[in-house]
Amino acid sequence: MENGNEDFKDQVIVVTGGTRGIGAGLSKAFLEKGAIVYATYAGNDEKANAFKSSMGSLGERLQLRKFDVSKKDEVEAFWTGITNEREQIHVLVNNAGIRQDNILASLDEESWDRVMDINLKGTYLMSQGAVLHMMRKRFGRIINMSSIGGKLGLPGQSNYAASKAGQMAMAKTLSKEVGKRGITVNCVMPGFIETELISDLPEEQIKEYKSQVPLKRFGQTEEVAHAVLFLASEKAGYITGTSLEIAGGL
Ligand code: NAP
Repeated sequence: MENGNEDFKDQVIVVTGGTRGIGAGLSKAFLEKGAIVYATYAGNDEKANAFKSSMGSLGERLQLRKFDVSKKDEVEAFWTGITNEREQIHVLVNNAGIRQDNILASLDEESWDRVMDINLKGTYLMSQGAVLHMMRKRFGRIINMSSIGGKLGLPGQSNYAASKAGQMAMAKTLSKEVGKRGITVNCVMPGFIETELISDLPEEQIKEYKSQVPLKRFGQTEEVAHAVLFLASEKAGYITGTSLEIAGGL
């Protein structure tokens, strides 16, 4: 392949949850580097369509696909569709994720299951579809959007933290299974990034969290995208099974 560092011209990139927040930042960054991006989402058509419109001419290389990453049949249908359309899938970013916080003593089973289903099972299902295809091509990059919470364990996030730590353990394991086929598997661990996911935090808590971050601010989606594009680049080919913190020093 001739592509240089962070040059994704004509590469096919799948970003789950790629229409809002961090995922939209990733989709935009890949589009700006010449990629064909499949941005998936769960149900918010309005946000997805608005994102595509906001991309202007870059949007011509943006494909939107709506399905639930935690549903095996929907994930399989997605992979069948995309592999019929494209010769090769180069990069998968498992970014779709939710949080439903509560202290463990009060955490209901439904919130536990939903967070694990989307964040962890979704990563498994999407990664399985990707590696089956990437192994044949002997090239691929898989990047999981984990979280610093998976390492630090913030109170009220036992389900979320377990799912994010699970993504890291899965990446480590998968990297050892597929390394000989030219596929790398890594995670990034953002700290607090300004998106809708954390827009429900009370003002006081935001202040408190910002004071705990050594860089004294929340991160931007562009800062996460920069790290993901690095890990997805061909020159990052000797980096696998690792997790990169993007958390302002937390
Ligand atoms: P966000 O703004 O809430 O966006 C979430 C995206 O995921 C949306 O596109 C959403 O689709 C999609 N999604 C949700 N459930 C899905 C499902 N079942 N199937 C398919 N797609 C689904 O979130 P964000 O802040 O950008 O977070 C993105 C990722 O970064 C998550 O994995 C999150 O855990 C991680 N992260 C975020 C932060 C942070 O501070 N923001 C920090 C660390 C890690 P719809 O638009 O259709 O709902």
